[in-house]
Amino acid sequence: MLLSDEIIKINKIGEERTKKLNKLGIYTVNELIEYFPRDYDDRSNISKICDLNKNEVSTIKGKIVNKAEVLKIRNLTITKIRINDGSGFLEVVWYNQPYLKNSLKYNENYIFTGKVIEKYNRLQMETPEYEILGKELLSNNRIVPIYSSTYKFPQKLFRDVINETLKNVSSQIEEFIPKKILLENKLCSREFAIKNIHFPTDNESFFIARKRLVFEELFLLQTKLLQVKGIIEKKENKVHIKNMDIEKILSLIPFSLTDAQKKVLKDIMKDLKSKKCMNRLIQGDVGSGKTVIAQILSYILVNNGYQVAVMAPTDVLASQHLDSFKNIFDKLDICCVFLSGSQKAKEKREAYEKILNGSADIVIGTHAVIQDKVEFKNLGVVITDEQHRFGVKQRDILSQKGNSPHTLVMTATPIPRTLALILYGDLDISIIDKLPPNRKKIDTIFVNSTYYPRIYNFIKKNADEGRQTYIICPMIDENEKLELKAVLTYTEELKTDVFPNYRVMCIHGKMKAKEKQEIMESFYNGEIDILVSTTVIEVGINVPNSTIMLIENAERFGISQLHQLRGRVGRGAEKSYCILVSDTKNKQTKQRLDNMVKYSDGFILSEKDLEIRGSGDFFGTRQHGVPEMKIANLYKDINILKQVQKISIQLYKEDPMLENEENALLKRQIDNFFSKFDTLISL
Ligand code: ADP
Ligand code: MG
Repeated sequence: MLLSDEIIKINKIGEERTKKLNKLGIYTVNELIEYFPRDYDDRSNISKICDLNKNEVSTIKGKIVNKAEVLKIRNLTITKIRINDGSGFLEVVWYNQPYLKNSLKYNENYIFTGKVIEKYNRLQMETPEYEILGKELLSNNRIVPIYSSTYKFPQKLFRDVINETLKNVSSQIEEFIPKKILLENKLCSREFAIKNIHFPTDNESFFIARKRLVFEELFLLQTKLLQVKGIIEKKENKVHIKNMDIEKILSLIPFSLTDAQKKVLKDIMKDLKSKKCMNRLIQGDVGSGKTVIAQILSYILVNNGYQVAVMAPTDVLASQHLDSFKNIFDKLDICCVFLSGSQKAKEKREAYEKILNGSADIVIGTHAVIQDKVEFKNLGVVITDEQHRFGVKQRDILSQKGNSPHTLVMTATPIPRTLALILYGDLDISIIDKLPPNRKKIDTIFVNSTYYPRIYNFIKKNADEGRQTYIICPMIDENEKLELKAVLTYTEELKTDVFPNYRVMCIHGKMKAKEKQEIMESFYNGEIDILVSTTVIEVGINVPNSTIMLIENAERFGISQLHQLRGRVGRGAEKSYCILVSDTKNKQTKQRLDNMVKYSDGFILSEKDLEIRGSGDFFGTRQHGVPEMKIANLYKDINILKQVQKISIQLYKEDPMLENEENALLKRQIDNFFSKFDTLISL
């Protein structure tokens, strides 16, 4: 048997079972042995029957002392045996598996792992996993692997098949990490690692195996990323800041900074004085007040004779930033210009000219800011808002403009430190961990569609009190098959049937930028009571008078999106509400929505999301084009990652494209592995 063979070649795997394994993404022998356990059960301690406690899962060894009986009680068949281990007798039962009778042999020794319960004042063991003694034990008397197996492929069979296969092919498991790296990092061989990740002989071998495989996974990713992006090193700081005085701008801001904001500002000021360029990420939950930090930084740069570029992911958000920047900077005689792909050619030309001759101090816009035509006179910093919406490539182009400017990126999406390191290399992170004072908690409720009458009344009452509502739908056009509320038809329905006496408008991504801006402006000015929208308003929008966020088909949105949407309300002094409507029956989805109700902190939500989805995947990875991790935990394996980064950079410097003989196997592994991921290239 070869590693590249299809699994149908394996003993005990016929067509039926092949299909089941295919559903788990397992097609080849190699994929089977690289299907790592989701968890382990430590069954290495054997208990004596006389020491058993009720309601505990235990492992016991004993001899069957009677012929197996099969009892029928109404619809239930019970298979029953008695065992003795020298310390006492115990009854063992299985339900509805009468065929077991034939495989449980009288007077033979077995090992059992199962839950001990009390029945009629006596202990018994229920539906244990068992194996006969004398043969190799896979499910008892050891650390036992547990596989993710949702398609009715029993654990015992899984273990059996993987064990058999490993025996057949383990000599073919190839070592592709260069010997020198293995030795220097005290890593075990790949063969040892794969065997022991499935069937660890003890705790220590498990840790040794896991470390090797985590290292391997991160090493492949990191080495590939270096090949694609090169080494990201901070450039020399050539931006000279003499004057850090910010009194004047602070006096124009209508609130005082929170301690969290002050701390971030201090980090930034330190960067400005440092020998290397700033490369900093500000992570702060929705509404934590990141914009003002960007404004203060801009002020310092402009005051010292530099230009500033501010980039936002959407037209709507960019023009909102323009307004809020102009609010302050007009009073300081600092010139802000707008740049977006949707502008007329003439407007763009005028902007380019101002940027080039230096009369524009702050350029605010969408990704139009990074186009080749834009030439700065003296760019000092590039600020990117809602960073997670941009590819890294776009950001890199922008930071290459001008004379290596500082870069500051801002995001509300929590990125684990590990992932940030993988993606951005030498990046510093500041966290705004407190919201501004006097924020009221947004009440979140999760209901089904029978609640519409009450919801609509609530919205009317809200409008009567002079406050505004967002209604979010997942799609623009009617799509009957998915029964999604479509913005256009739904808006009509709301206008005529539900809210005839209120001002209802709609906004969506297919509208012209100008139109969108006008609608957002009139919403901002309070001329619209109810704004029906797609997720174009998802990030950054700030209209403090809106107090209800109604999300239709909430099951269609990911947790980070829901959290972003919810963050659009609760921005003023009034109490705000987020209403999630969904008729979903899916358990995971319900749990996700329940979590929205329970938790208001974005960081906690992302962790909970990770729990629901299991290990390896969390929102953000795929979005960032990073393949799902099979074994590395991006939250916890930071130390291994740091080790890996050092090694891969060293390797990259020695042999960037892996052309040396000793790296040939590594090169092949990387090429094979990443041929599956075209998204990675988008990094
Ligand atoms: P985000 O971090 O989501 O970008 P914003 O910068 O839009 O948040 O800020 C949200 C709201 O909080 C804005 O209305 C802003 O004026 C206000 N805000 C920011 N900082 C403070 C503060 N220190 N005290 C009071 N309000 C603040
Ligand atoms: Mg923002």
